[in-house]
Amino acid sequence: MDQAVRGEPDPRRSVPSTAVLLDDPLLRAAIARLGRAMVKKTVQSVQQAVRQGNVKPQDVVGAVLAALPGQASGLRPVHNATGVIVHTNLGRAPLSRAAVEAVAAASGCTDVELDLDSGRRARRGRSALSALRHAVPGAQAVHVVNNGAAALTLAATALAAGREILLSRGEFVEIGDGFRIHELLTATGARIREVGTTNRTRLSDYAAAVGPQTAFILKIHPSNFVVRGFTAEAGLPELASLGLPVVADIGSGLLAPEPLLPDELDVSTALSEGAGLVIASGDKLLGGPQAGLIFGTEAEVDRLRRHPLARALRVDKLTLAALEATLTGPEPPVRQALRLPLAELEERSERLAASLRSHGIDAQVVAADAVVGGGGAPGTALPSCAVALPPDFAGALRTGTPPVIGRVLHGRLLLDLRCVPEPGDTHILEAVLRAAGA
Ligand SMILES: *Cc1c(COP(=O)(O)O)cnc(C)c1O
Repeated sequence: MDQAVRGEPDPRRSVPSTAVLLDDPLLRAAIARLGRAMVKKTVQSVQQAVRQGNVKPQDVVGAVLAALPGQASGLRPVHNATGVIVHTNLGRAPLSRAAVEAVAAASGCTDVELDLDSGRRARRGRSALSALRHAVPGAQAVHVVNNGAAALTLAATALAAGREILLSRGEFVEIGDGFRIHELLTATGARIREVGTTNRTRLSDYAAAVGPQTAFILKIHPSNFVVRGFTAEAGLPELASLGLPVVADIGSGLLAPEPLLPDELDVSTALSEGAGLVIASGDKLLGGPQAGLIFGTEAEVDRLRRHPLARALRVDKLTLAALEATLTGPEPPVRQALRLPLAELEERSERLAASLRSHGIDAQVVAADAVVGGGGAPGTALPSCAVALPPDFAGALRTGTPPVIGRVLHGRLLLDLRCVPEPGDTHILEAVLRAAGA
């Protein structure tokens, strides 16, 4: 109104029309990348800003481009500076570049179920399955489903529906977000027979519980808690001596022993100790895509693979591609983060802290503990270090673009670079400088 009174054009009258804007070459390119609905929605909110006098009519296209998201999905890339290597809230394992390229290559039409030589149908994902079997020579057969929970569901359904699974009372585990493994198992129609006590379960407890209804013994590796004190448990070799099938849910997805994590059970060891089936996740310490990996004897894996439910749990071509590249390609980021020498991390942290101090930001390098996280090795701290900042940075960095996630400890924001691939150090420097300027 004031502007109209002063004789200036009313911005509300000069709002460019939606049709004209959507036909702008720059916005047409954005539509090709992000879809019409997304661009149209952004155009409408910028038009609203023009009506309110917050954007000049001639700046509309630039404002729309600035407001559009970087990609068509709402999932935003973030920097994991938490020091938690497998962070459930941040999507667990980040894929290696080789896995990302394999996913891109498989994303169009691909020969996932076709033998190009013969022109006949071929076993779905055969090269990924063969890579998995070669990675674990002790496994007669392998199968891949959607995630660890799906693998447990399939094992319980195919081997124990209407029958009993023996499970130690010390292994009634909640894996996160309220999900409990024993409830998942009973949802399949199997019954759980509780064995022993919370802190002590002996072989004799299992032996006493075996009956005609017993389908298998389940051993769940504690991947997110530790029990200390007056404890006892029956190991896999002892359980195998009872002559019943033993299923080991190891969680972490280590295929072979990892010297840095001596308490973490791996697939090869579990098989050699007598487990008939071993179940693990693909996106924990293996560092691959979300998947449920199943290893075992030909007969048992085949019963799972042939069960009708297997079709509902099968993985897509993108998972198969990423899994194979994780197994055959260079060391994935999870393993790099696990093995990163402390001296290298200290050097990178000192460099980042010095750059920040040169801009007047209160930054020091402090000792910190990194952890494996949701994927395993509970109670194991990895000596690490972090750049400590005033705590106010936490919110500004988390809501910045790209978001940087650290953790607040004792009144300081800690940025641990262990899980940040080195080129990310510059992005973190820039993000902190932006946050300081805001
Ligand atoms: C993580 C985990 C699961 C569940 O695996 P998802 O891949 O998350 O479905 C099951 N059991 C154990 C011991 C685990 O650590």
